[in-house]
Amino acid sequence: MLNRTGRETAPGTAEAQADTFTGNRGLALEEPLIFEIGDNARTGVDLPAPPKVASRLGGLEREAIGLPGLSEPEVVRHYTRLSRQNFAIDMGLFPLGSCTMKHNPRLNEKMARLPGFSDIHPLQPVDSVQGALELIDSLAHWLKTLTGMPEVAMSPKAGAHGELCGMLAIRAAHEARGEARKVVLVPESAHGTNPATAAFCGYEVENIPATPAGRVDLSALKARLGPDVAAVMITNPNTCGLFEPEMIAISQAVHAAGAYVYCDGANFNAIVGKVRPGDLGIDAMHINLHKTFSTPHGGGGPGAGPVVFSAALAPFAPLPFVRHTGTHFELVEEEQAHGGDAHAKSFGRMVAFHGQMGMFVRALSYIMSHGADGLRQVAEDAVLNANYVLRSLDDVMTAPFGASGPCMHEALFDDGFLEGTGVSTLDIAKALIDEGYHPMTMYFPLVVHGAMLIEPTETESKAALDQFIATLRHLVARAKAGEADYFRTAPYFAPRRRLDETLAARKPVLSWTPESIAAE
Ligand SMILES: *Cc1c(COP(=O)(O)O)cnc(C)c1O
Repeated sequence: MLNRTGRETAPGTAEAQADTFTGNRGLALEEPLIFEIGDNARTGVDLPAPPKVASRLGGLEREAIGLPGLSEPEVVRHYTRLSRQNFAIDMGLFPLGSCTMKHNPRLNEKMARLPGFSDIHPLQPVDSVQGALELIDSLAHWLKTLTGMPEVAMSPKAGAHGELCGMLAIRAAHEARGEARKVVLVPESAHGTNPATAAFCGYEVENIPATPAGRVDLSALKARLGPDVAAVMITNPNTCGLFEPEMIAISQAVHAAGAYVYCDGANFNAIVGKVRPGDLGIDAMHINLHKTFSTPHGGGGPGAGPVVFSAALAPFAPLPFVRHTGTHFELVEEEQAHGGDAHAKSFGRMVAFHGQMGMFVRALSYIMSHGADGLRQVAEDAVLNANYVLRSLDDVMTAPFGASGPCMHEALFDDGFLEGTGVSTLDIAKALIDEGYHPMTMYFPLVVHGAMLIEPTETESKAALDQFIATLRHLVARAKAGEADYFRTAPYFAPRRRLDETLAARKPVLSWTPESIAAE
């Protein structure tokens, strides 16, 4: 049977009988694209006809640009329906490892919407934005305090952007010494953005193997260090959810070889208030404000990736930066304009303006409302929750580093427990969707076969974790009971059934009408 959405179901099956004419399923409503229902002549606003003025576009405007015209209720329904097809941290547990999808306190949102922060413009006279600059300066102060690092660059706009910032400072530092080092060492367990950043900066990337315990192999690292190595990029806690206990020895070896230590600090939420990266000998580290310090993210939403620097790299930090003169705050936009060591040999700019102001407000609001003790508890609870998940599942699922001691903020499993069942990591993830959970991170980190990386975050209650654990135990039992057929075609209840993900990414079919599907 072909219903109006063009979705075909096998005749006579229970699924076909449960199919609807509209394609709607109860409260889950189907809808064409607004480009298909929109009409150029329709509008949701009531504006007077524009006055006849001579065009100043020099004849550039020839025809309508094809934006769909919709009435106000159509627009409202469109976005409301779309929002209901989405999964959000405000709906349920979002155990995506290496992403820290935690609750975002509404207080932060309220602060970010204060007109004095939300209605300002980056080109406003500095005298009129003293409060905003003070906020950036206060946040910078707390980031330096929490990391034990003397300098911070606030402008990078995401974690990966922060990596680029840190690596450009490292390159500038080597260039200032007249050295053209070519190689960046990246452990196997690194986040994928690390080698990508190093390559983007023009470095050759070489892998450092992991020990069987999932940590950096210190002797392999030492053996590879030499005058051609510019830096080592290390994620700590790493993407196996483990702390690198030999970090100080790693830093000493790297420094002795004249190279710098870049730390990917995206997982700082596991150690905030407990460990200061500055004490570990790190030279540059980005902080994902949108992970450690809440603030909504995902789906390409705004992030912020300030980078803290050691004294060795501080002179190379980017512009602009905020400076307190004793009486007021100023924005230092040019190298020549300032004395002192910080930014004195700056590599330049990352962005046109100063960074993500809204995220700064949210992060400072989060830091101030938690306080030092609250932030420490964030780390402790994040680690406690992850270990609770790990130990509640490791009798039925396989935890490759279960014997390496407690994990940090995320619990890592491999697909060993699925061997012989015909069920894959992907199948488990799809079945989780039907159970009302966003899947965990799959097939990452690459060092583990069929990885399932679960980060519960500190904001989940024991009851929520217990239900998630019970759900996974149930799915594992079904997989082991020979129900591979069930898994292979999950999800059953999502707005779309299982997609060919490669085809969907390469050749998306966005229209829904039978005609448009037939035309494909
Ligand atoms: C999220 C993450 C990044 C990248 O951060 P973005 O803000 O998404 O660019 C880098 N490294 C690790 C370990 C991460 O978890």
